[in-house]
Amino acid sequence: MDGVACQSAEFLPGSDGNNSWFEGQGLWQHIPESDWRDWTWQLKNRITTVAQLEQFMTLTAEEKAGCAFANQKLALAITPYFFNLIDRSDPDCPIRKQVIPRAGEMVISDGEMLDSLGEDEHSPVAGLVHRYPDRVLFLVTDRCAAYCRYCTRSRLVSNAQDYNFHPEYEQGLRYIEAHPEIRDVLLSGGDPLLLSDKKLEHLLARLREIKHVEFIRIGSRIPVFLPQRITPALADIFKKYGPIWMSIHVNHPKECTAELRAACDRLSFAGVPLGNQSVLLRGVNDDAEVMKALVHRLLRMRVRPYYLYQMDLITGGSHFKVDVRKGIEIIRALRGHTTGYAVPQYVIDAPGGGGKVPINPDYVEAITEDEVVFRNFEGRIFRYPLKAGAAKGTDGAPLEVPGIESIIVH
Ligand code: SF4
Repeated sequence: MDGVACQSAEFLPGSDGNNSWFEGQGLWQHIPESDWRDWTWQLKNRITTVAQLEQFMTLTAEEKAGCAFANQKLALAITPYFFNLIDRSDPDCPIRKQVIPRAGEMVISDGEMLDSLGEDEHSPVAGLVHRYPDRVLFLVTDRCAAYCRYCTRSRLVSNAQDYNFHPEYEQGLRYIEAHPEIRDVLLSGGDPLLLSDKKLEHLLARLREIKHVEFIRIGSRIPVFLPQRITPALADIFKKYGPIWMSIHVNHPKECTAELRAACDRLSFAGVPLGNQSVLLRGVNDDAEVMKALVHRLLRMRVRPYYLYQMDLITGGSHFKVDVRKGIEIIRALRGHTTGYAVPQYVIDAPGGGGKVPINPDYVEAITEDEVVFRNFEGRIFRYPLKAGAAKGTDGAPLEVPGIESIIVH
């Protein structure tokens, strides 16, 4: 079959007003629509081998080498739905780069780590990471619908590296119960939405019973890889135990399809506030116009762009690495040039586990006792006075205000 997937998934850069959202069954036209819409069908029919990939496309030598290595690093798996978004005639397709392994994964560069965020050393119970006093990361599975080649948790996700991850739900829940300082629980993995409705409901119900847990959130790429999983029944569970906040993970505007938009609608209408976390990836989204098109599409799906991550220092990730100066340039190209809601916070998750640190363009030129001097988004210089001055009336004459000796002069 020849490459057709991208034609209706094209996006126009910037404030495009583009209403073309990829939809349909693409290469799987022959499948009954009821199967296509069934998330278990999508999972059963994932592309997981080189032979399956080669039925649909010609792999580059680099990709073949990467695929041969994948079973030692991070499994290969792509849902039919997401595979449709790949431009099979373009080796540089940004969707293809995210899910088809490349030889670069075999290269380990200086500073790269298996556990780049130092999670394992803060794990009191298998699957629970308690680094900050008031919140925990609850890793509830090591499986995902598809595997991102730059995954921070590739040491454990998919078990290709024999990590043998076995989350202990009950022990984890008891740990949270026993620690009243924990007010915030983030369910992640792997992808928590791969759990059955029954298991998810059990977890959410147990967490809701814990009085000191105020805030429950889920990190998931399922809406992007497998939007069919966001069924009305699942949305009802979120409604019942809400508010449940969710961070989805979209990296490129081509991932914003009609099906993802419908899944986001189901989540939003169930009262789930949605944010997006993107990873800055070379050849995928390290371009201001691509990022602008992405954040605009996210807003149209009621998803607030939340974080833009500098990629973690994971082993075999250097072929995706982007210079931090490029990330700053992208944020500078967004701030002031588009809706404030559309601008994510660019962060580096400090290697070894220092937490997320905001990386911002520098707008401040100087701060003195008297004023702050800064540039706006156009590069023009402005001054904001800091010093309290004598009170003056609107006519400029000195003003006596009982109890007030001076006011800020603007
Ligand atoms: S969905 Fe998340 S956990 Fe799964 S492979 Fe991608 S980045 Fe890793």
